[in-house]
Amino acid sequence: MPERVDCLVVGTGPVGMVAACALAQAGLSVGLAGPEALPDRDGRTVAILDSGVKLLASLGLWGRAQDVSAPLVEMRIIDDTGSLFRAPPVTFRASELGLDAFGQNIELTDLVAQLKRVLKTQNQLQQWPETVSAFRRRDDGLMEAALSSGTIIECRMLIGADGRYSKVREFAGIQSKDWHYPQTALTAIFSHERDHDDRSTEFHTRTGPCTLVPLKGHRSSLVWMMAPKDAERWAKRSPEEFARAVERQAHSILGKMTIESKIGLVPMAGLSTDHYAKDQIAVIGEAAHVFPPIGAQGLNLGLRDIDSLLKSLNKGMDQNALQRFDADRRRDVKTRTMAVDLLNRSLLADYVPVDFARGAGLMAIGSFKPLRQFVMKRGAGF
Ligand SMILES: Cc1cc2nc3c(=O)[nH]c(=O)nc-3n(C[C@H](O)[C@H](O)[C@H](O)COP(=O)(O)OP(=O)(O)OC[C@H]3O[C@@H](n4cnc5c(N)ncnc54)[C@H](O)[C@@H]3O)c2cc1C
Repeated sequence: MPERVDCLVVGTGPVGMVAACALAQAGLSVGLAGPEALPDRDGRTVAILDSGVKLLASLGLWGRAQDVSAPLVEMRIIDDTGSLFRAPPVTFRASELGLDAFGQNIELTDLVAQLKRVLKTQNQLQQWPETVSAFRRRDDGLMEAALSSGTIIECRMLIGADGRYSKVREFAGIQSKDWHYPQTALTAIFSHERDHDDRSTEFHTRTGPCTLVPLKGHRSSLVWMMAPKDAERWAKRSPEEFARAVERQAHSILGKMTIESKIGLVPMAGLSTDHYAKDQIAVIGEAAHVFPPIGAQGLNLGLRDIDSLLKSLNKGMDQNALQRFDADRRRDVKTRTMAVDLLNRSLLADYVPVDFARGAGLMAIGSFKPLRQFVMKRGAGF
């Protein structure tokens, strides 16, 4: 006999786990399928914006994450391209939006561990710690997912949170376009001499941004984008040499730095889809959109997918719910994918008119409060 749920969520990354919990709390019988392993502790953190933290808290998912996360009160951008049209540093302050903090920065492993802990307590949610190997649509309109153990789960709604190479997306016939950037991100966690004052600093360099994001205490996480060959070379150097290089790149704003984690290497890529839902199947998180880690947008967009899914279902659990979701996601996802792509490519361009436009843009944002507030609101997902 097949197992039966109203809605099957495929993928146990942060987006899949939050979505499964949210849908179960909305009253659906929900299944969650995906491997149980925790992500590697490779220095990768995620800055979750205020709206995302509020969503997690409202679902009872934030709890102990508060103890291992750090507030992000200010975000500073420093043009370090050496361009002729370099703009002065721009600082965004959460207080300008009436917030205590833009959000919270947390190690991805700690976030996933916290989500797993809470999910185990959700009675209305069935979990299968296995990958889905095949899907089938039946004549009666229901869908079937076959797990690696051979178990069959039938459902009337399928949510793909199965990441960039999503099988759910393929099964739904949702077309996607992917691309690569000539960049790899180096990730690591550092302790440092000086206080970060709850401020992240994004140095815009010719190879991409180099960002330091506050963690608890005198600690910060690093995302440094550069040419893949250079990233591989740095990852092989001694921890001391790498720490010196980061300190130099950060102009010693945090004083002496000491590496505390493994070094992670993430090749930079992008992905966009032509739809977010089709025939009772929706895709969310990196199954629907991937872009480089600039301005803390990736997971936050995934959390907004979930919020939108809940709102669409709240208007009626009918055949049109996922169409409403599809229409709602278009503008938000497309604008952010384009904005991040443009900013990243403008750094790599080394072309005078592009430098001028970027410098003038940053200068305008820095000196004109209403524009700065508009950018902050859009960035924070208001
Ligand atoms: C260096 C770096 C820094 C970042 N910093 C930030 C940040 O500060 N703020 C922010 O918002 N975002 C950030 N991001 C983006 C964020 O990390 C991602 O958007 C987010 O982790 C994606 O989560 P996801 O659940 O959509 O996908 P994934 O984490 O990829 O999860 C997909 C899951 O699906 C499972 N799966 C795949 N196939 C199957 C199958 N057939 N059956 C079952 N399960 C399957 C996989 O095992 C995996 O567990 C950053 C990204 C990088 C690379």
